[in-house]
Amino acid sequence: MMFFSDFDGTISHSDPVVELLALAVGSRAKALALTREIMLPVARQQRTYREGFDLAVANFAGIDETTGLKTMVDAVHIDSTFSHFYDFCHSVHIPFVILSSGFANVIEKSLDLFLPNRSGASTSRSSTKISVVGSSYAHDKSQLLWKVRHVDDSPIGHDKSVHLVKARNTINTNVKLRGRVPIVYFGDGLNDIGPAEVADIVFAKAGSSLDKQCTRRGIQRRTFRDFAEVEDVLGQAFLIVNKLIEDQSDRLRDIDLIRTWRDVIYTYDRADIKVDSKM
Ligand SMILES: [Mg+2]
Repeated sequence: MMFFSDFDGTISHSDPVVELLALAVGSRAKALALTREIMLPVARQQRTYREGFDLAVANFAGIDETTGLKTMVDAVHIDSTFSHFYDFCHSVHIPFVILSSGFANVIEKSLDLFLPNRSGASTSRSSTKISVVGSSYAHDKSQLLWKVRHVDDSPIGHDKSVHLVKARNTINTNVKLRGRVPIVYFGDGLNDIGPAEVADIVFAKAGSSLDKQCTRRGIQRRTFRDFAEVEDVLGQAFLIVNKLIEDQSDRLRDIDLIRTWRDVIYTYDRADIKVDSKM
């Protein structure tokens, strides 16, 4: 299993860009109004997400980098249950990759504060690292101007689905792993639709834009409110699938493992769980 996840709105409850905008424009109410004004055309597909992010960050003008970075890091509120989930990832040896359109250094610094051992400095946690792929910024020290350096040339500024496709291609080059390692994606926003479309298993924040879009587009997903819930679902799924692997070890080659993982994760709390296998 491989985990890929969005950050803002999925792991963190807050939006650091809005908080820095609040400092720039004088109040949180004004920042929220400005964000709505910038992002409404994005939702209506009259403006790209990339352009919207550029416009928001242009409003940081006049703020020095130290203040800006501190404001954004302080604004991050990570789901309190994510720490325990991180330990779960360690226990099952699954690496965790964060894919964000936001600033990677803000995410890195907030994770360093929240999970001090995550970088692998401690040998007990060295097998589970959280890596972060996100945008960066150029800061003009003399004029105090901010400019986004997007991850790629896509209209979103970061086409997250590319990372999942690349991971699957790597898995598929290994005959022993082909068709056996599900790619799991966690997200909440409109820019998570791409990766949700290519992931094997999707966890969408309940009631989020991603959740609604999954309904509209017929994408199967499991909704979640926090990572304690994810851990509960995955913990049960590991027990069930590992038992199946143990019981069916002589005909394991005939079992569609990814389909089995999907069935268990999407239905595990129902009484009528059936572990699907093709003969
Ligand atoms: Mg998000």
